[in-house]
Amino acid sequence: DEGRKEDGETSIVVSVRVRPETSREISFRGKYANPLPIQIHNDAVILLDPDTRSTDHGRRQRDFVFDHVFTESASNEAIFRTVALPLVRRSIEGYNGTCFAYGVTGAGKTYTMIGSPGVRGLIHLTADALFQARNEAVDSKITIKMSFLEIYNEHLCDLLTHTRNMNLDIVEDPHKGICVPGLTEQEISTTSQVTTLLRQGQARRSTAPTGANEASSRSHAVLQFTVISRPLDDNSAPGHIGKLSLIDLAGSERAAATENRGLRMTEGAAINRSLLALSNCINALGDIQVTGRKVFVPYRDSKLTRLLKDSLGGNTETHMVANIPPSALYFEEILNTLKYAYRAKSI
Ligand code: ADP
Ligand code: MG
Repeated sequence: DEGRKEDGETSIVVSVRVRPETSREISFRGKYANPLPIQIHNDAVILLDPDTRSTDHGRRQRDFVFDHVFTESASNEAIFRTVALPLVRRSIEGYNGTCFAYGVTGAGKTYTMIGSPGVRGLIHLTADALFQARNEAVDSKITIKMSFLEIYNEHLCDLLTHTRNMNLDIVEDPHKGICVPGLTEQEISTTSQVTTLLRQGQARRSTAPTGANEASSRSHAVLQFTVISRPLDDNSAPGHIGKLSLIDLAGSERAAATENRGLRMTEGAAINRSLLALSNCINALGDIQVTGRKVFVPYRDSKLTRLLKDSLGGNTETHMVANIPPSALYFEEILNTLKYAYRAKSI
């Protein structure tokens, strides 16, 4: 049943999430006339000059309007309901959907996707919703599989095996779509299973000698749920297969870093390439949607976009959550993130 995925609509929803101020940021407040340069009005983000005292709130620098803006008080559950729950419904009907967390290191991407001790992330909440849908299905049998991989320096690495297959290929199967031969696909049935696989997978993200935390700022983590639903009363019916991808992107600061040398420079270039390719693909897809014309989509420009070819284009729904810190300490990073996210929005 590939036909309907050919030329369908691609919808791109872009949200911004501002995280709470950290104690370190609070301790630097005195450095700026306007230490918290972000104002939020409904779905608009207004970025103010951190250094002018010309008004009580600083001089207005840039305004951006997004599909949704989440303030520091928004919970992962609230973000889940807006950005991931629609993808759960679609995946059960056999469509693909993708959700990205974008932003600089420390902006809250992992908190959003994976959570933190005692706080569940979008991945757990999505798994819960998938299990609930599976349990409630009356006329179909739903099977859910999970894969978890890392893209580091343009290499795909399986995070669900001890052997850590370091350089997996991406192939395009005419029937199954994009495939990664050899990638572990684990059938899952409980949330605690997902929690364990996630924890083990995160621990394997230690490619860099400085450890998993550092590695996570330099590599993209891609978790995919494959949702297979087959009608109970008709064994010969093909059923539906939907793929739901949840992605904790590498820190976007690497994309801008120019002073790095050697390996760090290679990494920076690889991250830059993926994030730029992602932006270019999303833009091209947005153009197709707006103009109805055939536009070239440069999927082949990075491993990330090649892997996500059938989860970005075609009849899919893509959500990007741009995470930003609230502090003037990161004014440039905030501005760059807002620009990137705004560019992803289809106009
Ligand atoms: P990133 O993955 O983008 O590098 P993290 O998700 O690790 O950033 O977030 C950095 C720190 O801020 C972590 O200690 C995290 O728990 C905390 N944090 C991020 N977002 C929030 C939030 N919305 N509420 C509370 N704490 C947050
Ligand atoms: Mg992180």
